[in-house]
Amino acid sequence: MRDLTPYQSARRLGGNGDVWLNANEFPLPVPFELSQNTLNRYPECQPKLVIERYARYAGLQPDQVLVSRGADEGIELLMRAFCEPGKDAILFCPPTYGMYSVSAETIGIEYRTVAATDNWQLNLPAIAEQLDGVKLVYMCSPNNPTGNLISADDIRQLLEMTRGKALLIADEAYIEFCPQATLASWLAEYPHLVILRTLSKAFALAGLRCGFTLANPPVIDLLMKVIAPYPLSTPVADIAGQALSDDGITLMRQHVAQLNDNRQWLIDALRQCACVEQVFASETNYVLARFSDSPTIFKTLWDQGIILRDQNKQPGLAGCLRISIGTRDECERVIAALQLLSGASREHA
Ligand SMILES: *Cc1c(COP(=O)(O)O)cnc(C)c1O
Repeated sequence: MRDLTPYQSARRLGGNGDVWLNANEFPLPVPFELSQNTLNRYPECQPKLVIERYARYAGLQPDQVLVSRGADEGIELLMRAFCEPGKDAILFCPPTYGMYSVSAETIGIEYRTVAATDNWQLNLPAIAEQLDGVKLVYMCSPNNPTGNLISADDIRQLLEMTRGKALLIADEAYIEFCPQATLASWLAEYPHLVILRTLSKAFALAGLRCGFTLANPPVIDLLMKVIAPYPLSTPVADIAGQALSDDGITLMRQHVAQLNDNRQWLIDALRQCACVEQVFASETNYVLARFSDSPTIFKTLWDQGIILRDQNKQPGLAGCLRISIGTRDECERVIAALQLLSGASREHA
């Protein structure tokens, strides 16, 4: 534990920003009022209304849904339920989300990595060679921080490769930004498929800490053995239930449409900036871009209160920064700051 590096969450990294574009949060708060006054009582372990509403939203049955303290808790529950420390392993494909390795390290489970291909798809032959002893394969689609979807044909091949051996965990934290790509309907075909979801991104509720694991009942039943007796507090369940009402889902979809518009605006504007070398396509509420001098750009924007996410240390992402899609005003502030920098470097040259 002494050598372990904790997850470098956006909040831990600090900064005195007023434009927070480093954690893929929704840029504005959505107001809620508590409807329950029963804090003297313990909450339900799996609040019925939340489970029923999420199942309906995902097109599944309630016994295929588990709710937890964010998708992050789902990531860890799966390891605790399906991996024996010192014996089993997990596998994932960097560059990707940082919590798979952090959770594995804290629980003492070996993790294996198979680098994504040049276009950030699965390297299936290399994965096949590494599967011995692997119980869980984590696959993020659309992937954080690159923003791309994983090819559906490749996912099918991976599911065939892992059948009877390992669970495939599809992290769909950003699926609301490309809902057609969900694997939820594949659960009927694959008993070893598991899907992670969250209210933290498109639903604008990162502070609520509420996420979902979607799987077939035998997998859900095993997770129910390791989950805490009261994973969600009563106010969390109350607000999650409201967010998953018909009105809540309609509002979320309006927000997604706005962010998708802002994303297109930001991508077009980034491509006009002299300091931007490459802007990658995105199916999410963030954009990854490669800059000619990313440390200076990161620092200059930071000093102006515009906080981005540095991805330099991820394999294959040298010079890359990730920018969450904020309000149009926030996107404009990023571009204005970058244009000033581009102007400055042109004067130098
Ligand atoms: C944000 C994120 C999560 C964590 O979601 P929480 O529900 O806030 O814990 C999981 N996976 C990916 C890929 C994410 O980007």
